[in-house]
Amino acid sequence: MERMTELINKIKELNYHYYTLDKPLVSDKEYDALYQELRDLEKETNIILDGSPTQEVGGQILEKFTKHEHLGRLYSLDKAQSYEALSEWMDRAERLRLAYNQSHDENLPKLEYIVELKFDGLTINLTYNNGELINAATRGTGTIGEEILEQVKTIKTIPRKIAYQGLIEVSGEGIMPLSALEKYNKENIDQLKNARNAAAGALRNLDPAITKKRNLDAYIYNIAYMEEDIVDSQEGVIEFLKENKFNTYPFAKKVDNYKDLIGVIEEIADLRKHIDVLTDGVVIKINDFATREALGYTNKFPRWAIAYKYEADQYLTQLLDVEWNVGRTGKVTPVAILEPVDIDGVTVSRATLNNYDDIERKKVRLGSMVLIRRSNDVIPEILTAVEDESIQTKEIEKPKVCPYCHSELFYDTVHIYCPNSLNCKPQLNARLTHFASREAMDIEGLSDKTVDQLINVLDIKELDDLYELKEEDLAKLEGFKDKKISNLLRAIENSKHVKLESFIYALGIPNVGIKTSQDLVEHFGSLDKIRNAKAEDLLEVEDVGHITARGIIDFFNESHIEDALEKLLSNGIVFEDSNVDKSDELDGLTIVVTGSIEGYNRKEIEAKLKNMGAKVTSAVSKNTDILLAGEKAGSKLTKAQELDIKIYQDQELMKFLEGLE
Ligand code: NAD
Repeated sequence: MERMTELINKIKELNYHYYTLDKPLVSDKEYDALYQELRDLEKETNIILDGSPTQEVGGQILEKFTKHEHLGRLYSLDKAQSYEALSEWMDRAERLRLAYNQSHDENLPKLEYIVELKFDGLTINLTYNNGELINAATRGTGTIGEEILEQVKTIKTIPRKIAYQGLIEVSGEGIMPLSALEKYNKENIDQLKNARNAAAGALRNLDPAITKKRNLDAYIYNIAYMEEDIVDSQEGVIEFLKENKFNTYPFAKKVDNYKDLIGVIEEIADLRKHIDVLTDGVVIKINDFATREALGYTNKFPRWAIAYKYEADQYLTQLLDVEWNVGRTGKVTPVAILEPVDIDGVTVSRATLNNYDDIERKKVRLGSMVLIRRSNDVIPEILTAVEDESIQTKEIEKPKVCPYCHSELFYDTVHIYCPNSLNCKPQLNARLTHFASREAMDIEGLSDKTVDQLINVLDIKELDDLYELKEEDLAKLEGFKDKKISNLLRAIENSKHVKLESFIYALGIPNVGIKTSQDLVEHFGSLDKIRNAKAEDLLEVEDVGHITARGIIDFFNESHIEDALEKLLSNGIVFEDSNVDKSDELDGLTIVVTGSIEGYNRKEIEAKLKNMGAKVTSAVSKNTDILLAGEKAGSKLTKAQELDIKIYQDQELMKFLEGLE
């Protein structure tokens, strides 16, 4: 159970970064392994814990978008990891079909499957009525998506008008063609790491001008809702889409047996290497709609379709050197320098090695022959070293001093760190770039290249030096003319009005991502309370474990950081109302809510109390200041009476609650 809870929390955090922020923390392969482990445990124990991601589609919806309720539900897809699993899936569908036919007069036809490419981008759902495109949304939770009509309109192949006049929703995939990705990376400083996140990030950006710059495309493959039955098979869907001038991919094959299916999968395995769109597998769909209906759906996916994902190809090359890089948090990580190798037309000469343990586990040495795999990311990973006695190899030494500032490094159980978080240049560069990033202080125009110039030319040493920058300073930088200077100064000035959660995230506290920052703000309500929180208070926050709590406490207790924070705040940073509206009326009071209160939802009352500065606990103790006792209050009420704690009941309770509104 402990492992299941751990996996759920981990997967939820990964989902948040993948679906909500479009910035995955790990490779799909690593994600899939954790997800599979959770599914296996759920099967083995027959227990599915509340909120398990195996029961939900996608991730959290961002508040900044208008919500769109899909007319028909959008699903995820079940996955087959092997041909054997595919064959089992087909057998099961056939068994269900036969069972259906035995108990019904009308028989379902022999199974036929349509095999399509599985595009790796962002699902889009398009609503048309009276022949006009009236809305576009992301998949979101499957029932509710984020409205992205203006962004979708930047895609030229999506028709604004169609011949069909009824109310209909069609869905497909918004993608960034690989040629567009390559062109973008040549022309821009900010590099896009992979086509999936580039497409998703562009479509889920509030500024359609940014979406437009990415030159996206879309392939449509599904009717998610139709007001009248206009088609009764996947072939019918494709025909309808073509007739209405949607961009359908010119590859969809029909098969009716396992052998032919594998033949098509192998054909696509080769095809996908030569096309301009990122695909991560194939989707196999039962053609006939009546059969689909009979097979039905689980909470998360249809039983009538399955995805088969390809294993990424592996390549052999030689490891020439290892470079140690210093990241934002001071973490020192190894990067493998490789004998260049051509993978699907891209020359690869660097690969990820996560940490020293990884080097030892994979038995990688200088000069070793190594197997690398490039999945969807631009930077591939080293899988293992391949023994070859004819080659002389040398041990990779653990670094002792920082490659940049020469401070002595320290080691925790897995990672290596440079302790000099204030003056070590890569840390400062990364810290400033992170500080300026979109979810943090959102200083547009402060790219890592500009940050480099600020550090090297203007000798910026601290975050708050940013707020001291003047026109004449920026004029010294190459490429900075009037407009660029005033834009950057304005963006810096504007960043002073910031949501507290963005500010907390901007500080770069170890393990505190945007989601944890939001949770902290929701729980504590103010910066001071977060700064002064004790471990036990922090542990009450969702997803904050011992390591994160320790990191937060150590961070705020570091004297350089305390000084830096004070300087930042004295530069006029003010916190805008976050999603949480704060007021200090109940500051410092510990309140317990119990029993049912007519017309109110307990969770909402608790959130309101927290926002007003109260601490809400579940048990009554001598530290409790007030008990709000609804109907059937029970033992908590008795205990509060014994301890002589202030109790609000009946009319007094209603008055108190009205006061909160
Ligand atoms: P999915 O991507 O595995 O499959 C469903 C989606 O496939 C649909 O929503 C649709 O958009 C898409 N699709 C593409 N071509 C299609 C076609 N021809 N027909 C029908 N659908 C088509 O679904 P999911 O549940 O969103 O994603 C799960 C996968 O996402 C995981 O297996 C994992 O690899 C990845 N993921 C990675 C991370 C990470 O941190 N790296 C986190 C979450 C999810």
